[in-house]
Amino acid sequence: MNVADSMRVASSLEKLGYHTTEKPAEADVIILNTCVVRQSAEDKAIGRLSSLKPLKTKNPELVINLMGCMVGVKDNPKLKTRFPFVDVFSPPSDPVPLIHHLLEKEGRIHELDETLARFAYMDGDLVIPDTDQGNLISSFVPVVLGCSHACTYCIIPYRRGIEKSRPPHEILGEAQALIHQGVKEITLLGQIVDRYGADQPDYPTLAGILRRLHSIDGLERIRFLTSHPNYMTDELLDVVAEYPKVMPHIEVPIQAGNDQVLENMRRGYTNQQYRDLIEKIKNRIPGVSIATDIIVGFPGETEQQFQDTVDLLADLKLDVAHLARYSPREGTVSARRMEDDVPDEEKWRRFRLLEELQEGIATGIHATYQNQSVPVLFEEKSKKGRWRGRTETNKLVFAESEQDLHGQLLNVTIDWTGPWSMLGHLIP
Ligand code: SAH
Repeated sequence: MNVADSMRVASSLEKLGYHTTEKPAEADVIILNTCVVRQSAEDKAIGRLSSLKPLKTKNPELVINLMGCMVGVKDNPKLKTRFPFVDVFSPPSDPVPLIHHLLEKEGRIHELDETLARFAYMDGDLVIPDTDQGNLISSFVPVVLGCSHACTYCIIPYRRGIEKSRPPHEILGEAQALIHQGVKEITLLGQIVDRYGADQPDYPTLAGILRRLHSIDGLERIRFLTSHPNYMTDELLDVVAEYPKVMPHIEVPIQAGNDQVLENMRRGYTNQQYRDLIEKIKNRIPGVSIATDIIVGFPGETEQQFQDTVDLLADLKLDVAHLARYSPREGTVSARRMEDDVPDEEKWRRFRLLEELQEGIATGIHATYQNQSVPVLFEEKSKKGRWRGRTETNKLVFAESEQDLHGQLLNVTIDWTGPWSMLGHLIP
């Protein structure tokens, strides 16, 4: 979501006459787009921000813009006191405070209304920033902003505001604009993407949006993330199964395997319901790949309860598990009401145990690709000079070629597989 938001800000600034530089010391404007989903992300953001202070001291004309979840949608006076060298604070997805500041600084404030009308965040007229123009093969399109689901551990609803689906014409317009600029693959984004339209009675469902996108010429692949188990309808699974451009890859987090922990997280489903859903997905979409998210060491999680997560992962054999150690976030229900009582070393132990388990599972799944021929959409050349692309199931594939494979969808025979990627050669 932040990648998508950053692209929009860069695009807005280019329309104002700015262009990108690689070196912070040369910049007139520096935008730090932040994530605070875990303490580690917040620490990183603070570290980066602090490293910008000397630049501001040296060049008082420099504009520093702090953006995203560290700022949040509500006024945040504490942050302003703590970082007085920041000129502009912007909520997630919102380039307007920065545009306002820059126009004012340049004595162009009279252009504000017209400027905002020309490139509101929601325009279907997104121009890919210069640095990515012509290079970008895969791009994100946010379809649901914010989140109204109150998972007890999660700070996102507090910082990104309530759930809001974007109008279908904006989504389609934006997808069309990206395709005209060379994009071949679009990933629809939402904190709970499968709730698309649920907040707007007149909007289609996510399945409806996927069907409409499917008919855009030049668009080769469509993905969506992240889904919540409770909103994965049969209609959605049918579209993934039946529409060839909709990729057979589902990101649907479980978060924990134990029913009591799930209840404490307020996830709204049980271990068995999740298992049933995975079985249904696998039956309905042959060859599907499935990714999950897991938090270890949630307040009160016992060894026995953790074992339910281990068993679940071992049984379901999902393609990917994004693992996280529980991190109490200010203002969330779990941080206010539940003691962070699983020691850090124990969180690490559980984390490593699942990591190792999942590495074995992924290795096994990838081994089934050996000597198979699969379509790969190539995105770019890696630093080692190999072309990098993805299978329909979102597996990373590298292949050697003298040709320019950028943006090409080609059949590849897989020669080697590992836990995180595969090597293959082009079929002549
Ligand atoms: N809304 C999306 C993405 C949320 S952030 C979703 O529900 O999947 C991505 C992941 O970060 C979450 O799925 C969760 O596993 C993890 N996460 C969120 N809050 C966390 C916290 N307080 N501590 C540790 N991990 C957290």
